[in-house]
Amino acid sequence: MPVAIVSGANRGLGLELVQQLLERGWRVIAACRKTQVRRLTELAGAHPGHLHVMPLDVTSERSIAAFVGEAALVTDRIDLLVNNAGVLISGERFGEVSAKSLQESFAVNATGTLLLTQACAELLQRAAGARVVNVSTVMGSIAGSDTFRTPSYAMSKAALNMATRLLAAELSPHGIVVTAFHPGWVQTDMGGANAPLAVDKAASLLIDRALALRPADAGRFIASEDGRDIPW
Ligand code: NDP
Repeated sequence: MPVAIVSGANRGLGLELVQQLLERGWRVIAACRKTQVRRLTELAGAHPGHLHVMPLDVTSERSIAAFVGEAALVTDRIDLLVNNAGVLISGERFGEVSAKSLQESFAVNATGTLLLTQACAELLQRAAGARVVNVSTVMGSIAGSDTFRTPSYAMSKAALNMATRLLAAELSPHGIVVTAFHPGWVQTDMGGANAPLAVDKAASLLIDRALALRPADAGRFIASEDGRDIPW
């Protein structure tokens, strides 16, 4: 049975990814800052022995180390790592952007992804053809950016895209495919109610694309709705 890790798994896209991976017969390690989550408890009951809920704050090296140590107690390999945890600080305006929001955004969106992937590398190498999916956004596309919108989010996701390229280069020789995805504009706390894409649809599209990844896809930045490459 393949094993996945999903970060930011307590709500939004991450929670839906956990549910759908379980329904597709995966064993899932749901990594979240808050582990007492009713829907995760229900899913654990519905899929006995297949869901492990573990604490993880991706901004803390200590938490990452403890998390990977705990994961290694329940599995000897990871087939899929979804770096989904993310933060968008809204309401930023030019002239009022703070160091704090920039630092927090980088810590979660970029640094956290690189450090968690690095810490999981050994478990990923033990799987045949493991995949790492970095949940990025079209707002992190430098080429597509022409307004001063959500700078902390946009800059940190651009850094995540660079982390994707670096990790792809490093891990491809070990048979691990690393990619960045734009999941679409999704109805979650972050995406808001006006988003056109329901969270269940976004999750199933992302899983389908992730499972179809081949070694040649390493280092790509892909729109999960239509599979096209997004300009960096
Ligand atoms: P939500 O805001 O609904 O959920 C974000 C998740 O990330 C929560 O589970 C949150 O946990 C977790 N998280 C935040 N900080 C940390 C941390 N330090 N350690 C561990 N987990 C953390 O967002 P979405 O579900 O919409 O977004 C999921 C991903 O998709 C993000 O990376 C986002 O950037 C990306 N994305 C979303 C889009 C959308 O339209 N929704 C569009 C493009 C990309 P907690 O509850 O503890 O805060």
